[in-house]
Amino acid sequence: MKKVFSKIGLLVALTVMVISLGACSSSASKKNVLQDDKQSKTITWGVKADTKLFGLMDVKDNQIKGFEIDLAKAMTKQILGKNGKARFLQVTSQTRMPLLRNGNIDAIMATMTITPERAKQVDFSRSYFDAGQAILVKDGSPIKNVRDLNKKGAVVLGVVGSNSVQNIGKFAPKAKVLQLSDYSQALTALKSGQGEALTTDNGILYGMSLENPGYSVVGGTFTNEPYGIAVDKGQAPLKNAMNQALTKVEKSGQYNKLLYKWFHRVKGFDLKGAER
Ligand code: GLU
Repeated sequence: MKKVFSKIGLLVALTVMVISLGACSSSASKKNVLQDDKQSKTITWGVKADTKLFGLMDVKDNQIKGFEIDLAKAMTKQILGKNGKARFLQVTSQTRMPLLRNGNIDAIMATMTITPERAKQVDFSRSYFDAGQAILVKDGSPIKNVRDLNKKGAVVLGVVGSNSVQNIGKFAPKAKVLQLSDYSQALTALKSGQGEALTTDNGILYGMSLENPGYSVVGGTFTNEPYGIAVDKGQAPLKNAMNQALTKVEKSGQYNKLLYKWFHRVKGFDLKGAER
């Protein structure tokens, strides 16, 4: 009997521990991130490091570079003043939400589409970039658009945690989707013939085709992917500051300058449609 009681006691103790740990993490997320950032004069952004044009690690100087990095820096100055610092932490499509919700990063700016499903878990700023899903294939491929993937039951490469892999289920339900852990791995898989096409947003695919002659974006876009900055739930002051900073960066002409800097070389990218 004693043993049974001590087992029950242990169980109760463990349950209390789990509950209080849970409470700890939710009270940690109750802190005012904007206030903390103002004190430390730093915003920690979760950004991509495998995505040319948006956020790509430059191995020469170990710096992540791209449109989103420059935009995050400009917005950080708007929010924290000219001495404000943007700190960058590398995320993937799969890790970005958990890292935000655990408090490892303050905000995500990582080619992340605003979707109703995601908006249940995080809050989004208004959109800062309008992308659309497309496919990348080797030149001369018989696959010319997303419907061809369906007809042929082809293998399509994508990335875990992206909504692109889910969308393929709707637009080409007969295609087989092979999910890799990031975009550099997905591109390597395409080049080594493990799939007939790679799918994600057009801007990301343009970045790959710039670096890899012989691979092209085909068939146009078949979804709308408005990118938003994600912050944790309960961080309305930070979200509002993000929206205000975005407006200022747009109104000052800085936004269009950055758009031109990163995308003017991209054939097929309509700069006019993206200007703000
Ligand atoms: N924009 C899409 C998404 O949010 C695809 C790009 C990505 O994997 O980040 O899932």
